[in-house]
Amino acid sequence: GSDGVPGRVRVAVRLRPRNAEESVADADFADCVELQPELKRLKLRKNNWDSETYEFDEVLTEFASQKRVYEVVAKPVVESVLDGYNGTVMAYGQTGTGKTFTLGRLGEEDTSARGIMVRSMEEILANVSPETDSVSVSVSYLQLYMETIQDLLDPANDNISIVEDPKTGDVSLPGATHVEIRDEQDFMELLRTGEAHRIAANTKLNTESSRSHAILMVHVKRSVLGAEDVIPSETDKSSHFAKPPKPLVRKSKLVLVDLAGSERVHKSGSEGHMLEEAKSINLSLSALGKCINALAENSAHVPVRDSKLTRLLRDSFGGTARTSLIVTIGPSPRHRGETTSTILFGQRAM
Ligand code: ADP
Ligand code: MG
Repeated sequence: GSDGVPGRVRVAVRLRPRNAEESVADADFADCVELQPELKRLKLRKNNWDSETYEFDEVLTEFASQKRVYEVVAKPVVESVLDGYNGTVMAYGQTGTGKTFTLGRLGEEDTSARGIMVRSMEEILANVSPETDSVSVSVSYLQLYMETIQDLLDPANDNISIVEDPKTGDVSLPGATHVEIRDEQDFMELLRTGEAHRIAANTKLNTESSRSHAILMVHVKRSVLGAEDVIPSETDKSSHFAKPPKPLVRKSKLVLVDLAGSERVHKSGSEGHMLEEAKSINLSLSALGKCINALAENSAHVPVRDSKLTRLLRDSFGGTARTSLIVTIGPSPRHRGETTSTILFGQRAM
């Protein structure tokens, strides 16, 4: 685990409650996991006698509120973005285990239901002071499907390219729409538009939205004038003439990623387009896994070039960037295999 050290990945696991169908169908069976949140441990039942125990940075039970999940998973990342560093929160897990519930819920009627996207924006906006206008916030919203990036704010824009600054390693998407956000209403509107376009795009492509990655990028630009914040350049230091301090513009971004479902598509049963889709998801998730393993092992080489997903997240890996991964699981003993592989993905990231 990282415990707040930048450049490492913090990993939380969240269990969703049984749904109505599981409550009936699995009534005679125990959940496939048992959580010990105070010990930050999870026991995976292999059978009636045997279980394997895993430790995480946080263990969130089916009773964990959205507020608590935000506080342990995303808040430290958002705070570091407000301090000028890049940050990422990713949700990984089988379809139906709560990735979108965790990240994307709007909670329009019931604010306690709000997910990480809305809560993060609330926190960022609370730090924007309109009097000084020293902070600006803009958002892009993208879908990554079969190694192609589409703009969820302008669906006609369906082949966005990634530009990497060779000197700084900063990643940008010059073709993507950036929407200036002044208040929560602006942001809710943007999320609704993005979601509607995502549904329409996937209908057109004849695929499920669980087969693509949804990526929300929040760009924070802050002008800092306070004397102690101004870092003098080499020339300033040697100069005999006092110059008025130039405002220091700090740019940082928060990237929130609702990953494609991690379930294995049975290759034997699928062909043509379905097979290509499955291969593409396996490619990007395994590339992501390799990058976060490299971070966990403090390896000098993080293999970002293997997929669009990892190229896009390149400036979120290592250095001063902060990353949280939340792996979501369901309780059903029928999905023990998928649950096991999700838990192992999370373990390898630590
Ligand atoms: P995913 O995005 O991983 O496919 P969803 O977020 O769509 O999964 O969740 C699947 C279903 O389970 C939804 O109906 C959602 O409301 C419900 N659900 C997920 N997580 C929770 C939770 N922690 N508490 C209550 N319901 C949940
Ligand atoms: Mg989803």
